[in-house]
Amino acid sequence: MDWKRLKAELLAANTVRLEGVPCTGFISRSTAGPTAGGEGSVFFSKDGRRVRLSVAREGRVRLHHHGEGRVTIRTGDLEIEGKLEPAGLHCPRQAYVNVSERCIFHCRYCTVPLLGGGTKDPADIEARVREVLDRVDAIAITSGVSDSLEGEECRVRSLVKRLVLLGKPVGVSIYPTPETPQRLQDLGVSEVKWNLEAATPALFARMCPGLDYHAIRASLDRSVEIFGEGAVYSNVLFGLGESDENLERCIEDLTSSGIIPVLRPLNPAAELATVPRPSAERILRVCEIHEKGLRCHGLDTRKARTMCTACTGCDLVPGRDT
Ligand code: SF4
Repeated sequence: MDWKRLKAELLAANTVRLEGVPCTGFISRSTAGPTAGGEGSVFFSKDGRRVRLSVAREGRVRLHHHGEGRVTIRTGDLEIEGKLEPAGLHCPRQAYVNVSERCIFHCRYCTVPLLGGGTKDPADIEARVREVLDRVDAIAITSGVSDSLEGEECRVRSLVKRLVLLGKPVGVSIYPTPETPQRLQDLGVSEVKWNLEAATPALFARMCPGLDYHAIRASLDRSVEIFGEGAVYSNVLFGLGESDENLERCIEDLTSSGIIPVLRPLNPAAELATVPRPSAERILRVCEIHEKGLRCHGLDTRKARTMCTACTGCDLVPGRDT
C-alpha cells in the first residue's frame, strides 16, 4: 500500500463515517485548528503513521470499528486495516491546549471567532495536562486573541511557567509580538510556530484583515536566531486561491531561512465554507514542492518534538509520511 497516496486521498476527503462498535474514547473534540467546533475527529494509524479525519454522517470514506481500536477503513476500492489512536489532549501523544477559545480577529477561514468561547484558567489547564501526562511526549499551547496580542502573550507566558515544570518539551503557537520569541525561550519553550497562513502577503491581507504578515515573518526570522534552524514552524494554508508557483516561492523563502513550513489543505469553513478542499493530486504536488524545499536547505521534520509537524494528523509531511 502506498501510504502517501492513501493519506492524500483521505486528507482530500477530510471526513469519515463511523460504523461498527462505538468509537468511545477515540473521538477528540477541539476548540482550535481545523476541527474547531465540529463533531470531533478520529486518528487513523497504520505502521506508525497517522491521519486525522473529521467525523461526519455522510461521505465517501467509511471506518468500521471492530473493537479495542482495531479498524478497517474503506474508500473506493481501497480497504486498509489499521488502528485508532486515542488523543492525549486534542491529538495523539501530545497535550495540545487552546487557552482562549475566542478571537477579536476574523480570519475568513476560521471558525474560532464564531464560537465565542471563554478563556481557560491556567490552574485548570495544568490539571488537565497532568491527567494525561503519562500518555504524552510533548505539551503544546495555542490560543485565539481574546483581547490584545500583548494580553494573550502574557496569559500564555503564565501558563508556560507552570507547564515547563512538567518535564516535557513545550511548543507554543500564538500570534507573536516582537518580544515573544525571546520571552518564551527564556521560560524554557522548545519550539515555536507563528502562522503565515497564506502563500503571499496579498492573499494574507484578504484572508486575515487587521493582522500583519510582515510582522509575523520578522518574528519567524528572529525565532530562528533564538531557537535555531528546524525548531521554528509556520502554517501555510493552500486552497485559498494561490498558485503552485506562489507556494513554491513561499516554501523557498521559509526553508532558506531555517523555518519548517506546515503545508495545510484548506478546511472549508466560516466564510470559505463553499470553497472546494484541495484534491489528492494537489496535496501530492504540494508535498513534492515541500519535500524539495526541506531537502535543499537540510531541514528534517523527524526532529520535530511538538505541535503539528510532530503530530502529522492534518497534513502530508515530507520525511514523516514519505
Ligand atoms: S496536525 Fe496539528 S491541528 Fe492537526 S490534529 Fe495534529 S496537532 Fe492538531
